[in-house]
Amino acid sequence: MQGVVEKVYEQVVARNRGEAEFHQAVREVLESLEPVIAKHPHYADNALLERIVEPERQIIFRVPWVDDAGAVHVNRGFRVEFNSALGPYKGGLRFHPSVNVGIIKFLGFEQIFKNALTAQGIGGGKGGSDFDPHGRSDAEVMRFCQSFMTELSRHIGPSTDVPAGDIGVGGREVGYMFGQYKRLRNSYDAGVLTGKGLAWGGSLVRTEATGYGTVLFAQSMLATKGETLEGKKVAVSGSGNVAIYAIEKAQQLGATPITFSDSSGYVVDEAGVDLDLLKQIKEVERGRVKDYVERRPGARLVAEGRPWDVPVDVALPCATQNELDGDAAATLVRNGCTVVSEGANMPSTPEAVEAFQAAGVLYAPGKASNAGGVATSALEMEQNAGRTRWDFKTADAKLTGIMADIHDSCVAAAEEYGRPGDYVLGANAAGFTRVADVMIAHGIV
Ligand code: NDP
Repeated sequence: MQGVVEKVYEQVVARNRGEAEFHQAVREVLESLEPVIAKHPHYADNALLERIVEPERQIIFRVPWVDDAGAVHVNRGFRVEFNSALGPYKGGLRFHPSVNVGIIKFLGFEQIFKNALTAQGIGGGKGGSDFDPHGRSDAEVMRFCQSFMTELSRHIGPSTDVPAGDIGVGGREVGYMFGQYKRLRNSYDAGVLTGKGLAWGGSLVRTEATGYGTVLFAQSMLATKGETLEGKKVAVSGSGNVAIYAIEKAQQLGATPITFSDSSGYVVDEAGVDLDLLKQIKEVERGRVKDYVERRPGARLVAEGRPWDVPVDVALPCATQNELDGDAAATLVRNGCTVVSEGANMPSTPEAVEAFQAAGVLYAPGKASNAGGVATSALEMEQNAGRTRWDFKTADAKLTGIMADIHDSCVAAAEEYGRPGDYVLGANAAGFTRVADVMIAHGIV
């Protein structure tokens, strides 16, 4: 990095000490922007870069709740309202013990550019808590969600800030939070949260959207080489919302996913994942990946290692940040993997990204390839505002169109700045210029 971009990065590190994931996300974006700033120096005027790396607002709050045995727990809640140039803050809530302000800031920062790529008029934000839902009863999760929303409700609204799910936050948690919001406000503002149930304002395809979109993006990248997913072997990590629907769409397009994982290990099923069984275990029983192996002859659980050790054509990291490092990337490349589409946010380390790009792998960063989730959330907001609901085919066709547009915007921006096929540069440049142009139009605010 050099010049103004380097100066801004150094300021971010100095001002946000110890927030390693936030530094990593900012560095990746700023590095990509060097050719953009060189071609359009006005983007560095009026401290635009300094403003875009500083959240508009950061809220940190106490979340007290009572467990089933009557013991009181205190968690920490976060909402980072990062950038509202393009619309209300939009981004999910993560409940995981690793959550801290640096992780929420990295996610919120990525969200600005991701949401800009969807071209749907949504700003960037993210939130969550260090609460761990694993092993908690329904009643405990409900009490936690109610306490969390009691504070969060002061800060959100359909035209202000619209949270959704992420790791540890699915339909059940969104339901408990919406119920509490409605009670506190005495107002049925369906558009205040997305990822809602279908009976109370949710959109068809929202559940599937992130995983489906990740695979559609892989298919678009392959199409640039005249190829398809048909007949390809796929490694997937994670076994949550994104992983399950990435597996489903990959199967629909003729590929064979053979792995998935959770924090206890990964499963290899060479015959191809039995998706009905996986859904039954994860969505109905809230079980673990080891339960799959117990019921599926031929599948094995590997407790040590990573799904990236298995030879495949396509890798879809769908669990969490920095789950795929330089060594794993080298292994994938050595084993013949030619496509990586990220379902998770920032799952590949900088060393892994470098290894993929050096080897000519078709590599899509999450802010482009997993944007289908937030895009369909924006479609949910649109349906809520119009008090209507589209059928599956309509919502699915819109998602497919949006993913194709995001792919094409990335390709065009990469070409414009002289690095054809570089989806990292393409996504960052296309997302950044959309936000920056509007920030300039709005003046210094
Ligand atoms: P879920 O909570 O549904 O599933 C998360 C999965 O990842 C689980 O299998 C979980 O295993 C695993 N996992 C999470 N943290 C770790 C960890 N530290 N080490 C190993 N495994 C881990 O979350 P989602 O599927 O919704 O989210 C997955 C990723 O996709 C995240 O990066 C998220 O930010 C991103 N994303 C999600 C979107 C959405 O619409 N849901 C939209 C865009 C991006 P375990 O149960 O053992 O923890």
